Amino acid sequence: MSKSEKRSDTVLAETGRRPEWTLGVVNPPVYHASTVLFHNHAALRRAIANSEDTFFYARKGTPTIWSFAEAVAELEGAAGGKVFPSGIAAVTTALLSSVKAGDHLLLADSVYEPVRFIAKSFLRRLGVEADFFDPLIGAGIADLMRENTTTILLESPGSLTFEFQDLPAIAKVAKEHDATVIVDNTWATPLFHRPLEHGADVVVHAATKYLAGHSDVMLGVVVANDAKLKALQRATAFMGQVTGPDDAYLGLRGLRTLAVRLRQHEKNGLVVAKWLADHEMVHQVLHPAFEDCPGHDIWKRDFTGANGLFSIVLKAGDYENVAHFVDGLEHFGIGFSWGGFESLILPQDPTAVRSAHKWEAPGPLVRLHIGLEDPADLIEDLDAGLKRFADALG
Ligand SMILES: *Cc1c(COP(=O)(O)O)cnc(C)c1O
Repeated sequence: MSKSEKRSDTVLAETGRRPEWTLGVVNPPVYHASTVLFHNHAALRRAIANSEDTFFYARKGTPTIWSFAEAVAELEGAAGGKVFPSGIAAVTTALLSSVKAGDHLLLADSVYEPVRFIAKSFLRRLGVEADFFDPLIGAGIADLMRENTTTILLESPGSLTFEFQDLPAIAKVAKEHDATVIVDNTWATPLFHRPLEHGADVVVHAATKYLAGHSDVMLGVVVANDAKLKALQRATAFMGQVTGPDDAYLGLRGLRTLAVRLRQHEKNGLVVAKWLADHEMVHQVLHPAFEDCPGHDIWKRDFTGANGLFSIVLKAGDYENVAHFVDGLEHFGIGFSWGGFESLILPQDPTAVRSAHKWEAPGPLVRLHIGLEDPADLIEDLDAGLKRFADALG
């Protein structure tokens, strides 16, 4: 595909803008639609014969949706993709397109918390067994493969504890067992990591985060290689997964500036992370640019950048008195999600959501999203917060 040989910044500006979708303006219009009217009987018959690739019925997509799907698929080097009303809808549908009753599913122990529960409750109820593995297992995953292991889900890095996973080594084992590798690539975005090039079959995004980038929309995308695309399309159709056209439009609009935003998040994030690493109250900075970040070498080998999301482990204290640090911050919102333009902070204890091995740390884990504010203001704010925390500990 010669298109994918363009540099990614150029792809971001040009992708998904087919003239038959844009009708002469720069961006594809927002199609509010249900029924699609066919010219005549022959056109109806043609559409029925090829409902994925023609304008058929809005549940199957509209040009606004296709444009966003095509953009992410091109950026990931995939054969095609589907758009979802949330990241979780995307992960669930990707899993349901791959597993069936009697199958065994392997998931990285650091996967996004709700995905853990989807595997343990919802999928278990459907007869799928799930096991969680040490995200740093690499080729050692061979020991966990069973006859009925059909699917492996990675989220590299885990978006709380930042373990980078050896996708090529895991994908090699998966291939030997004919198992599908699904990667949640929300953290890196296709600008910093392209999992299909490293052996994955399917890539999932919570486009809610950096792809949309403005904290104003819930959105997901799944893209797949040729072999897995049909199953993805079928699962999506069976589940009735439709995304509102305004939401898809916001995703596409955010995507156009992904590269400039991400570079700035990376730069600001590094300034703040380096300052935190030298702070006396900070035990560890879980940022891939630091050598003690789990899987740092894999990040250096397989990724081309970092963004504004990382965690710190504090030297002392607990999840009660961390309030002295977090409350009273001026520039950090307390809240879930990340990838918007604004800074966020979230203390979160990984203990309850680990089973492959125990989470151990001298103090609470606090996740930071460094936004597009001036990092000097953010540092002053964190400095005052850590002083309050240190004073409270005595
Ligand atoms: C946020 C997130 C999701 C879920 O996305 P939503 O749009 O919030 O449903 C899935 N995976 C990762 C890694 C995430 O960070």
